[in-house]
Amino acid sequence: MSQLSNIFAENQFCVLVEYLTSLKELFPVVTEFAGFPALMTLADRVHSDDDVAPLVAAQQFPAEVDKVLHYAGKGRDIAEFKQFLQQAQTAGQHNLLLLTGDKLKHHESGEHGARTRYLESVNAVMAAKQHGGFCIGVAFNPFKYTEAEIDAQYLKLHKKVKAGADFIITQLGYDIAALKQLQRFLKRHSYAQKLLACVMPLTLARANFMLKQQVAGIVITPRMVEVLEQEKSLGLTERVYERCALQILIYQHLGFAGVHLSACHKPEEQQLLQSYIERYRHLDLADCEQMWHDLWEDQSDEVFRPNVNTYSKKVSLGQIVKYQQLHLMHDAVFNSKLGLGLGHMIFNQGFWNKKPAAKALLKTELLSKHSVVGCDNCGQCRLADTLYICPETCPKGLANGPCGGTTLDRCEFGDRECIHSVKVRLAKAVEQTDVLKDQLIDAVPIEVRGSSSWRNWYLKDDH
Ligand code: SF4
Repeated sequence: MSQLSNIFAENQFCVLVEYLTSLKELFPVVTEFAGFPALMTLADRVHSDDDVAPLVAAQQFPAEVDKVLHYAGKGRDIAEFKQFLQQAQTAGQHNLLLLTGDKLKHHESGEHGARTRYLESVNAVMAAKQHGGFCIGVAFNPFKYTEAEIDAQYLKLHKKVKAGADFIITQLGYDIAALKQLQRFLKRHSYAQKLLACVMPLTLARANFMLKQQVAGIVITPRMVEVLEQEKSLGLTERVYERCALQILIYQHLGFAGVHLSACHKPEEQQLLQSYIERYRHLDLADCEQMWHDLWEDQSDEVFRPNVNTYSKKVSLGQIVKYQQLHLMHDAVFNSKLGLGLGHMIFNQGFWNKKPAAKALLKTELLSKHSVVGCDNCGQCRLADTLYICPETCPKGLANGPCGGTTLDRCEFGDRECIHSVKVRLAKAVEQTDVLKDQLIDAVPIEVRGSSSWRNWYLKDDH
């Protein structure tokens, strides 16, 4: 059992201190933070696509310090992940935070050659659970502000739990009401997963950096920046640590399992933060919350929320009719006894193994499906589990649900609406939300891509 599992089992509040593997200097790691047990976490490719892998970086730190290794699926395949699991186990690493990850900095859209693939967190959790021996963490972004993106996030969280997550770490955020909503969700569904909130001492420089870089899924409002600017001009820069301390204490009072502390790896920063935790430790929840709001100069939570023009969008009749037609067609051709028998008979012919026939089949499949649903010849058609909205039309190719990078339904890539928001709206209109909640969709192995999903479908039981 890892130290982290023990801490969870004993219901101790803990602090996971994040270190970037791109740091030039090796900072001392702590095993205790303001009286709380502390562990280190190693982030995966946050600074650049070529950062040292957390598994490699972990070797530079004392073996007795328990670590949580992040693994982001960007630019990775399920086979690579399974190899990583083996290596992590051999290296004695037992705690993982599995996430899809934000856009790879050198993302290739496929227009000029290969397309960057993303291993979904749900698939990584399924594989890690099957492998066994790991305490598995997943990321979750509760800071969403339209109906569809909130629903899409929570539906995916059901899948992460079902796949085998042991703990949840939230996206960095400041809207404590959104975290309370997440806590209520876990309680309502009797989910026993441990909940940790990501916190960071938010300086003006960091806020401006995140806004400039448009860091995916992080909400910093103009009012927050205004408050930070005022403070800086008045020389009240320590308020940043005061706030972070209060946030940590609020989460402790709320019964969270701990916090994931980002951008606080320097000893002097840690000392300052710890001193404020000590100073406010005696306060109860109501007093901590009152001080938190006072420091943001706002008694409501509106200061942390973006302006939302449209909370709910409507599904068009055309979308519903298209879904119904495709659903009927799919059932008749791919699920009926007649369809399955015919398909098996046709595609079982050795003829399809010949290159020209395989090529012609693939082209026919692409021509017939691309214009209707956006098919990209993935070889493992998942349309029936995604309400006929093709996962390949998501730039990351995600099938199980959204990444955390949406902004008011807009895709992290900025060029479309998130396909998962569209899908959730449709699912509600046709009463199919259970499909999005329960159906764990397998990852597409690289070697399957570029083959006929029709043929693979009918012959799947022959393998
Ligand atoms: S479509 Fe949605 S899930 Fe896909 S990359 Fe964009 S925001 Fe993420």
